[in-house]
Amino acid sequence: MGIYNYGLGTDPHPITKHAGQTILGHEFSGTIVEVGAKVGKFKTGDHICVEPLIYCGTCPACTHGFFNQCHSVGFIGINRHGGFAQYVAVDENMLHKLPDNVTFEEGALVEPTAVSFYSVRESKLKAGDFVVIYGAGPIGLLTLLCVKAAGAAKIVLVDFSEERCITPQELGASLVVKGDAEDLVQQILAFTNGGADVVFDCAGVQSTVSNALYTTKMGAQIMLLATFKKPIEIDSNMVMFKALQLTSTLAYLHVFPTVIELIAAGRLDVSTVITSKIELNDIVDKGFETLINDIKQAKVLVKP
Ligand SMILES: [Zn+2]
Repeated sequence: MGIYNYGLGTDPHPITKHAGQTILGHEFSGTIVEVGAKVGKFKTGDHICVEPLIYCGTCPACTHGFFNQCHSVGFIGINRHGGFAQYVAVDENMLHKLPDNVTFEEGALVEPTAVSFYSVRESKLKAGDFVVIYGAGPIGLLTLLCVKAAGAAKIVLVDFSEERCITPQELGASLVVKGDAEDLVQQILAFTNGGADVVFDCAGVQSTVSNALYTTKMGAQIMLLATFKKPIEIDSNMVMFKALQLTSTLAYLHVFPTVIELIAAGRLDVSTVITSKIELNDIVDKGFETLINDIKQAKVLVKP
């Protein structure tokens, strides 16, 4: 949505050399209709989803294995033509096969689920922990599903919209608190018996991180997985006095196969975050504009 709202830079991407108009869409699945001569692992007819990460393989981040932190990181659908089309060409090493019982809809949700899953996996969350998630957009809701699958005992979701199509309680939230509630901190402290073990920030604004400092236990972890539009201020003394761990994850690394397995096994019911399904021709009116104007929506699925 950020790209639709704010546009892309005009400089060619250092790896793809792509610039100018771009077919968007970095969360997608489909059927292989043609393979190149050197493709060995996949064949025509395979159902696949795409891991759209583009990286150089040679920078300091890549040589240390942090491909998601590549100094030239890019994505199909942002820095190269993407999935909002009937056909798209992708590299073989970006593909993941979908088992027969995983639908294309679920396949299209592997990418955003991977963002949440990687963050939960990298966090210090343990079974039985109390968790607070700030932000109930798609990533917040998918983080809720991952946190539930990881065995959190109580999950508080802080939601900033008046109403939405999805009831977070149905997805596993133990308590939903309005983001602008005056007693937000008191509500969370009372419900979690003194604060969360782990907080996931899926909102990326000043108030959520400020509130996160007050809604954690001693020694808790605050995991940032939203990106911030502008730098924020953090009370660093509070981080020290509460022995907090402030950390973050960016995108994902080596988790697509596990996410697909968990979906196939029925352990991550990702289709629950889909709030509407539309045709590709309607993507502007019923897709982007609806997401901007209708805060009830979470994930809108597009059928090419
Ligand atoms: Zn690199």
